[in-house]
Amino acid sequence: MNSEQWIQKSDTYIMKTYGRFPLVPVRGQGCRLWDADGKEYLDFLGGIAVNNLGHCHPRVVAALQQQAAELIHCSNLYQIPQQIELAELLCEHSFADKAFFCNSGAEANEAAIKLARKYSRDNYGVQRYEIITATESFHGRTMATVSATGQEKVQRFFDPLLHGFSHVPFNDVEALEAAVTPATCAIMLEPIQGEGGVNIPTAEYFREVRRICDQNNLLLIFDEVQVGMGRTGKLFAYEHFNCAPDIMTLAKALAGGAPIGAMLARNEVAAAFSPGTHGSTFGGNPLVCAAAIATIRTILEENLLAHTVEMGGFLLAELETLAKKYPFVQGVRGIGLMIGMSLALPAAGIVTKGHERGVLLNVVHDTVLRFVPPLIVTQQDVTQMITILDCILAEVEA
Ligand SMILES: *Cc1c(COP(=O)(O)O)cnc(C)c1O
Repeated sequence: MNSEQWIQKSDTYIMKTYGRFPLVPVRGQGCRLWDADGKEYLDFLGGIAVNNLGHCHPRVVAALQQQAAELIHCSNLYQIPQQIELAELLCEHSFADKAFFCNSGAEANEAAIKLARKYSRDNYGVQRYEIITATESFHGRTMATVSATGQEKVQRFFDPLLHGFSHVPFNDVEALEAAVTPATCAIMLEPIQGEGGVNIPTAEYFREVRRICDQNNLLLIFDEVQVGMGRTGKLFAYEHFNCAPDIMTLAKALAGGAPIGAMLARNEVAAAFSPGTHGSTFGGNPLVCAAAIATIRTILEENLLAHTVEMGGFLLAELETLAKKYPFVQGVRGIGLMIGMSLALPAAGIVTKGHERGVLLNVVHDTVLRFVPPLIVTQQDVTQMITILDCILAEVEA
């Protein structure tokens, strides 16, 4: 079937939860995708910061094929070697001692919220359960994570929300300190806000956040669902800020495109979960864990963190050159390959023009172009994208 035919069938059978583009990718390799009509696209969205190794990375494909032929699923009633090995890898490379696995970012954050509440209740009593999060944050689409998210557009229509969340401006120490009450049990933040527009806080902010947590015995939860797994040039974004959390959540890029979520914690905190307190049927099954192990090993063994720093620096510099050329570009910011370009106008039209010219771009917060290409992106890929973007911005100006 061609793209047109797929789009018609989609209208018939798929619920309209997304504003989907009329684009039907059917094959991918590295930083490139091909649609059902055979047209090629250079991918600077990477499945929304999921395809950090690009599409169909040979090591991920091999791990999935091999594991699929051996054992796909058994149950968390039994021990799962791939899950154990993945937990060891994540703990060895982070602040954490223990891992819990689920299937998505929202589920990882649900697990973090439940663990924080349970830990606080065990240690300080039932009156202490509130979690402070940031405005413009994004933590997922389940009821608890919608309640945690600081964006009206995500929350509206779904009242009553889950009780026990308050929101303060991001990167504002005073507002955070003022929001702490005797009922507060945790602070939950993205180290860099993704959906909120690629918002990067000061290093000083997280030093102060950690101090506020320590002084008030609050748990610090980092939602690294988007910025973890090498996206910023460190395996985890918190490493930039010299500020370790007590709980961290991962998902998007963790298994090279296979659906997974993880919630990591220090031993003392993790101990609040005892058998029967939380769980997931699929969470951490052999298939996805094999893909995640291959993904982490590839990031570490193929020096992708250093490559991310290098390519991120190159992309940022090229975007800054464009920013100087076009007065409606307000600014460019980023760490590693997590880069935002603020415009003085809605950016949706730029994405459509990108599709016409064979490049996948992305907008967050209406006016921010977000660049989250695969970490394996090359200098030639960046140059190709910049050339196309330059043409599009020239069109927009005219
Ligand atoms: C994408 C995202 C989520 C939600 O992940 P899902 O897998 O879609 O549930 C949560 N937090 C952040 C920071 C994200 O970017």
